[in-house]
Amino acid sequence: METADVLVIGLGPAGASAAAEAARRGCKVVALDRKREAGLPVQCAELVPALLDVEAGAVRQRVASMVTFVEDDAPDLKPDFPGRMLDRAAFDRSLVDEAARAGGDIRFSCFITKITPKGLVELADGTTLRAPVIIGADGPRSRAGKAIGAVNTELVETRQITIALLEPHAATDIFLSAGIPGGYGWLFPKGEVANLGAGVSPQHKGRLKTIVGRLHSKLIEERRVEQKIVALTGGPIPVGGMLKPWGRLENTTVLLAGDAAGLANPVTGAGIAAAVHSGCLAGQAAATGEFETYEEELEDVYRAALERALRRRRELLTAKPEKSALRRSWIAYPEYWQ
Ligand SMILES: Cc1cc2nc3c(=O)[nH]c(=O)nc-3n(C[C@H](O)[C@H](O)[C@H](O)COP(=O)(O)OP(=O)(O)OC[C@H]3O[C@@H](n4cnc5c(N)ncnc54)[C@H](O)[C@@H]3O)c2cc1C
Repeated sequence: METADVLVIGLGPAGASAAAEAARRGCKVVALDRKREAGLPVQCAELVPALLDVEAGAVRQRVASMVTFVEDDAPDLKPDFPGRMLDRAAFDRSLVDEAARAGGDIRFSCFITKITPKGLVELADGTTLRAPVIIGADGPRSRAGKAIGAVNTELVETRQITIALLEPHAATDIFLSAGIPGGYGWLFPKGEVANLGAGVSPQHKGRLKTIVGRLHSKLIEERRVEQKIVALTGGPIPVGGMLKPWGRLENTTVLLAGDAAGLANPVTGAGIAAAVHSGCLAGQAAATGEFETYEEELEDVYRAALERALRRRRELLTAKPEKSALRRSWIAYPEYWQ
């Protein structure tokens, strides 16, 4: 059986950041992902806050403002909403490269099939690994989380197409409508193209193609985008709020980071910055053994914001989805923050 000091499951932003931090602190780190290579396929709208530290090569464009469309009303402009649009594959790749440079043993094409009650990690190829600390950075449907009873029970399902823009755009466009139940639509510009997508509660997943198709047709009519779809993606986003980020399986401690810990925002679905940050903290905790401090730090930084978002999301799910309720459920409006 192979052993390590720290076993990281998942090499998205959370896992790569965790692997880098634990390796920098002298741990023998093995980090695994079922993907064949870092960051691909991309399942993301690629927007991050301006403050997140991103290698220049992974930035495709800056955005300055947010424009929110509530049903057919005239759009509301939020001028000061700076962010950056990533090349998410390049971003993930740069984090994985950093983990390798720090000394992490990085392995792709490794599918984890099981984490046993004793803390053994079993791979599809029959290999078994063990470590005193496992970092579960394996996304919304985390096996590591399931093993310690921390499961994301609320998810949003998404569909996104990439299309060419007919004119440059420097804002993030948000579409709120009763016709997009449990989520919203987005148009995020990325140089000459844009990501156009929508998320909805899982029971409405079957409507996503029509919802995104309608948004696409509207933008074609407005002569903002082209018809031809150049990429298609989607995936689940955890929207039930923060989970207890650690637990034990006999002598093994399991730390959860990123989406596995439920750190994506239940309203916006944004989770990249929290994944990077929590991954670093998890890597640090794996090296120091300060697991309670890890939980406290996540509580301090994320609990209040995630609970507000969760409250707003649930209010919208139970309210009559009138325009006032839609506005109250979105971060661009003062009502959201009251
Ligand atoms: C359509 C869409 C659009 C989004 N847009 C944005 C956005 O614009 N901005 C933003 O901030 N967030 C966005 N998000 C959310 C964001 O992508 C996530 O919050 C972020 O990727 C979380 O990072 P992570 O490292 O925790 O998980 P992930 O990036 O999901 O990485 C988990 C990794 O674990 C691996 N893995 C899972 N199971 C196994 C297994 N059994 N064996 C081996 N490996 C495994 C996966 O292959 C994956 O590489 C979006 C999500 C979706 C679906």
